[in-house]
Amino acid sequence: MYFSMSGTSAFFILIPAMYLLFTLALAVIGFAERRLVSARWAALGFFVAFTSILVDGYRDPTGSEWLGWYAVATHYLPLLIMTQAFLSRHGRKTTNFAIALTIFAAIYVMPGMAWTPPNWLRGVFVQGACATIIAAALPQLWQYRKKSLVDVIAFFTILAAALSYLGRTIAVGLNPIGETPDEMIAFYEGLNLIFQSASALMGMSLGIVLVMTIGYDMVRGRMEEGEIDPLTMLGNRRKLDRKIALDKAGRRSFGAVMVIDLDHFKRINDRFGHDGGDDVLRAVGKRLSSLFDGFGYVFRVGGEEFVVLIDEQHARGVSSLALSARKAISELEFEGYLSRAKVTASVGFHVRVGKDGVQDAMQCADQALYCAKNDGRDRVVGAVYERGLQIMKAVA
Ligand code: GH3
Ligand code: MG
Ligand code: MG
Repeated sequence: MYFSMSGTSAFFILIPAMYLLFTLALAVIGFAERRLVSARWAALGFFVAFTSILVDGYRDPTGSEWLGWYAVATHYLPLLIMTQAFLSRHGRKTTNFAIALTIFAAIYVMPGMAWTPPNWLRGVFVQGACATIIAAALPQLWQYRKKSLVDVIAFFTILAAALSYLGRTIAVGLNPIGETPDEMIAFYEGLNLIFQSASALMGMSLGIVLVMTIGYDMVRGRMEEGEIDPLTMLGNRRKLDRKIALDKAGRRSFGAVMVIDLDHFKRINDRFGHDGGDDVLRAVGKRLSSLFDGFGYVFRVGGEEFVVLIDEQHARGVSSLALSARKAISELEFEGYLSRAKVTASVGFHVRVGKDGVQDAMQCADQALYCAKNDGRDRVVGAVYERGLQIMKAVA
């Protein structure tokens, strides 16, 4: 073994052991809960890092060049995989740029290439490539900073990792690695030891943050399962209540509320059976969800009743949105045994004014819906303010 100092030996036992433990823990989570893709990426990342540090710690620096190359190439790779782990929490992929750079950086330092770079350049290049591979994920991760606290922590962990490699790049730039064996040994016993400690520290923080984010995703996933209506895959009453509570607690985010109730739905059930009714509900849910995509959130709150929270910036267009919802439902066409089914809906809406709570707005929208039903169904009524008075106004 090349490293004979006891501290260094302990380092090369403890760090790989830690990486192996992270690998196992993350793999167990990732395979027990299939939707936690990020746990599987993270497990792979730690496994590659584990092999890398073993090879790096136990190889003979004067021995096979290919082992040295493996240690460098598998230094880039886990960084790419770790950024993928963070990005896959949001269903995103690492940029093609980061993948291409990882491949290029590995080829660039391959032994026996025509362009074998001098040691100082190689040193700067390797650290700079690592910094860039990590930093490439930052713009994407930044977009999720407002989702939750763990997303903020994930962003800053990746930022810190990129900065630490930037610092290394500057350090090897200012202390270039020489070409003589003595100079190389001086690097391995000096700056490189600091780099390895920094890598270990970074690996540990990445591991902890990954375990934390994955734990968060697990709990969050369970919670969301309880908030999704399995028939239509829309949010249910519980989810609506949570959105309302969030709106109450923080910045107002919904500008209008719409209530949509299918007309004479009992007749659909009577005629086509409960399963037929379910198929109709599924189709209506799908239609509404695509119709309001980008305009607000749709919830299925009762049997055949849907609530839509309209985003603040689209609140002014609520009456035309309501009309298109009514129209879209009445134009739904069904196949097979449902081909003769005809569905219509009544719609009530209300635009929030002043300090109106969502709940108040929902009550107003409900009253408007009640008017639409009384008026003969298949129509839209808005609870609107005119000259300081709230009136029910049919919209056509
Ligand atoms: P209105 O026009 O006044 O709204 O008449 P309606 O028949 O639609 O209203 P009502 O509220 O009296 O009845 C709603 C019906 O919706 C009763 C119930 O059998 C049916 N329903 C509720 N949930 C489901 C469901 O999940 N699946 C199916 N197939 N039917 C449901
Ligand atoms: Mg109904
Ligand atoms: Mg109803």
